[in-house]
Amino acid sequence: MIQGRATGEQARVSGADFKGIGMTSQRTRERLIQRLVEQGISDDRVLDVIRSTPRHLFLDEAMAHRAYEDVALPIGFQQTLSQPYVVARMTQLLLAAGPRSRVLEIGTGSGYQTAVLAQLVDEVYSVERIKPLQQKARKRLRELKLRNVHMNHADGGLGWPERGPFDGILATAAPASIPEALLRQLALGGRLVIPVGGDSQELKVVTRTDDTFETETIETVYFVPLRSGTVR
Ligand code: SAH
Repeated sequence: MIQGRATGEQARVSGADFKGIGMTSQRTRERLIQRLVEQGISDDRVLDVIRSTPRHLFLDEAMAHRAYEDVALPIGFQQTLSQPYVVARMTQLLLAAGPRSRVLEIGTGSGYQTAVLAQLVDEVYSVERIKPLQQKARKRLRELKLRNVHMNHADGGLGWPERGPFDGILATAAPASIPEALLRQLALGGRLVIPVGGDSQELKVVTRTDDTFETETIETVYFVPLRSGTVR
């Protein structure tokens, strides 16, 4: 199933997870990858992981047939599984300045972005505020044997101070402004990829260099809002 992570190799989901399911045909997935390439996703590691990660397993049955369309899809609790293009773009941005070892994800949701990250970095720390979503995600990641994922049911706006600092932080819910706690938990040379704003949001990349933070604005995005507190 999953190759070991010896010799610097990250865990990989095996192609066998796809067999026997019509909607996940090779052709459907190749079409999605082609679309991502056309939209400017150029990192082959990211494309390979998206090609081999079974997105349909992160959706309820009623939605699974749409898993390889380039759209965001509902996962319950008024939350959405991000559009593949956005997952690819954010992951590419996170890895653009060199490999990442310890990555914090805010907003586990379905666990799909988590699964993508887990195959590209050493350890993923993922925080989710809605317990039932976290439980489902945990089960899926276990089924895929992605063992380098650590989960926390908490308000991710506070980061995960006990496990920081992180050389990468990726948020999949949008705060009105960048939470101080996330900047504090960014290691030197670390990168934060985060949507920021309300009705109108922008994807930002913040890089920590010595004692300054350099911010770059990438593009307009649409994420669910980052909310404080937790739901049991
Ligand atoms: N990466 C997810 C996206 C899910 S949508 C996926 O691919 O499926 C964003 C998620 O962020 C939701 O599950 C929502 O509950 C969660 N979220 C919102 N505010 C949060 C907060 N303060 N802390 C942790 N998770 C939060």
